Amino acid sequence: MEIIYYIINFLILALIIVLLFGKKIISIFRDRRIKIEKDLDSAENIVLPVFKESPNDDFTVEDNNDEAEYEKQLLDRKIKKLKNYAELECRDLHISKLKKERKEILSMFFECVKNEYELGSFKDKEAVRNERIIDDILSKTVLTSGDLSYIKRHKALYVTLVSAYPLSESIINKVDKATNELVKSQGGETSFRVDVDKELIGGVFLRIGDTVYDGTVKEQLYLIARRVENRQITEEDTVESYIEYIENQIKKTGDNISLYQRGRVISVSDGICWMDGVADIMYGEIVEFECGERGMVLDIQKERIGCVIFGRYELIESYSKVRRMGQIASVPVGEALLGRVVNAIGNPIDERGRIEHTQKRPIEFASPSILDRKAVCRPLHTGIKAIDAMVPIGKGQRELIIGDRQTGKTAIAVDTIVNQKGKNVICIYVGIGQKESTLSGLKEKLEAEGAMDYTVIVAATASDSASMQYIAPFSATAMAEYFMYEGKDVLIIYDDLSKHAVAYRELSLLLQRPSGREAYPGDIFYLHSRLLERSAQLSDELGGGSITALPIVETQAGDISSYIPTNVISITDGQIFLESELFHSGQRPAVNVGLSVSRVGGAAQTKIMKQVSSDLRTKLAQYRELAEFTQFGADVDDETKKTLNSGEHLTEALKQNLLRPLDDWKQALLIFVVSNGLADNIDILNMNGFEKELYNDFENNHIELVNILKSGNKMDGDTAKRISDTALDTVKRF
Ligand code: ATP
Ligand code: MG
Repeated sequence: MEIIYYIINFLILALIIVLLFGKKIISIFRDRRIKIEKDLDSAENIVLPVFKESPNDDFTVEDNNDEAEYEKQLLDRKIKKLKNYAELECRDLHISKLKKERKEILSMFFECVKNEYELGSFKDKEAVRNERIIDDILSKTVLTSGDLSYIKRHKALYVTLVSAYPLSESIINKVDKATNELVKSQGGETSFRVDVDKELIGGVFLRIGDTVYDGTVKEQLYLIARRVENRQITEEDTVESYIEYIENQIKKTGDNISLYQRGRVISVSDGICWMDGVADIMYGEIVEFECGERGMVLDIQKERIGCVIFGRYELIESYSKVRRMGQIASVPVGEALLGRVVNAIGNPIDERGRIEHTQKRPIEFASPSILDRKAVCRPLHTGIKAIDAMVPIGKGQRELIIGDRQTGKTAIAVDTIVNQKGKNVICIYVGIGQKESTLSGLKEKLEAEGAMDYTVIVAATASDSASMQYIAPFSATAMAEYFMYEGKDVLIIYDDLSKHAVAYRELSLLLQRPSGREAYPGDIFYLHSRLLERSAQLSDELGGGSITALPIVETQAGDISSYIPTNVISITDGQIFLESELFHSGQRPAVNVGLSVSRVGGAAQTKIMKQVSSDLRTKLAQYRELAEFTQFGADVDDETKKTLNSGEHLTEALKQNLLRPLDDWKQALLIFVVSNGLADNIDILNMNGFEKELYNDFENNHIELVNILKSGNKMDGDTAKRISDTALDTVKRF
């Protein structure tokens, strides 16, 4: 009974609601339906801006089979579309944005071309075009040496014909016959396959063995993309000129056939890729993977080819295609690099945008022959007293900086760079396997000293792959060579080659090469010698440029007789040995005089420096010996005391703070004064003050003596006396 009562109540309520709000509810539902209908309508209308007009509205080809006319109209059509797009999309793009977004813009342009093909605008003409391409290809086909050896071994060769749209029977037969004849002439059979692949957009390609004769639209677009990528965008460029450039590129392409070799990835791991195919590939050649990453061939075996990958190897898939680029690995070179930080393949990593280079150089290059060189004859001042006086470096020399960790190796290199300011020497610093923070600290230091203007930093940090660390010094040397052959002087610092050797060992082990001493591969010596042999002083006929190399090698507990140190010592023209003990006792730079030598730099020293520092080494060595002997408090006679005292002053005078490079004349003056014992009575603690005062005195009051010192000529007895008299005046004040 109660239920009937509830139902009646409910019905009455519903009736009241419908009477009161019925109209409103109906209008809500109607509005929603209309909105959904509208959305659906507009969704159907969304098309690319270029296709707002119907694809065929202004494109009527008269069926007269005039090929040239057809081609022209086809291009006109494409360009019109592009222009249309450009106006719609790129009008407000600033040129700087264009720089960043060129890839996106280009891919949208390509999208236009692709869409047009898909819409079938050129379908009826495709057959005629394909026929022409095939004729062209068949006139060009040859068998490469790789193909010949394949035929010899297998008595067969694979031939594949692939097109975007199905080909006519007659074309297929023609290709089959022609290729069969070609292979038969070498005693083999063809295994012929025909395929259709929409991905090609348009056109056709023929693959014989590993060689591809490519006449597809996809290939044309790929080539345009490469050209556009390589084109520099200057400040004068506008969006219009940029688009015009792309248009011209498209105009130029026509029915060109590109020829390249293709292979297949077998496996990828740890930055190493094994592949097959690409039969005629060269050692050191660049290959490109489907994902766009690149690699360099480092190992050629009968059945497979090993290469190192520069980018992200995770992106490369097994059995994907790989393409020969036909060029040896090369890097951008030129003035545009100055002041920049680049990675091992010359790409900028300093967020200052693209490097607008005009030239490239191969990273491996034959070193200058003996006839191309001349003797080292000009000094390269480091500005460091202990080095310029005792282990002088000449332009074109290779001087190793060797020592344990944290002994001031990098500091010497950086001081040397800073000292080249205003001296027309271009500096290249290669950081291998270092922390990113260390490198950015170094860059800041150089910037603060105003040294970045003439310096390039090539960085392959510890987080980079072994392959990047391996090629970094070679790339940097290529950059240096450019300047050298332009007749300029270059200083290059490899910091450091021990880490480089470790990276190469890693690569070699991954490439399954047999390991030798300390697990390094057998050719590690060759690796470093061919790198350092490229530093030279060129002869006058070749412009007289030079590369001075300062490789750095790290030792373990001062052991210079381990593998890599002995190798590099024997390759270079001398070494600066830095000692931990000296460093910690406060002797900085911690140059060990006994073990440091410069085999050729002496010839390049100024005469005055040679004169004043001739007996410096002996004096210091004597002092060290005596000091060791007397350190236990033995009683010493007056003569020994005197030697000890002057040795102490000499050692003190050779101390030098970071980033305080000294002019050559100042060094000569100080060494002359101290090694002649003129400053022996000054308190050791005052030596620093005395040094400063000495320079001030000479600069302010004895400019003619300074000029004599600056001339670099040998001092005669009279000048020597005048200088010592003047110096004694300064000494008196201490
Ligand atoms: P690593 O093996 O880590 O590369 P390194 O041998 O290159 O080290 P540096 O980084 O050049 O050594 O120097 C180590 C430390 O010693 C730095 O903090 C540096 O400031 C200091 N140092 C180096 N030379 C001098 C110097 N002449 N005077 C004072 N401090 C110095
Ligand atoms: Mg260092």
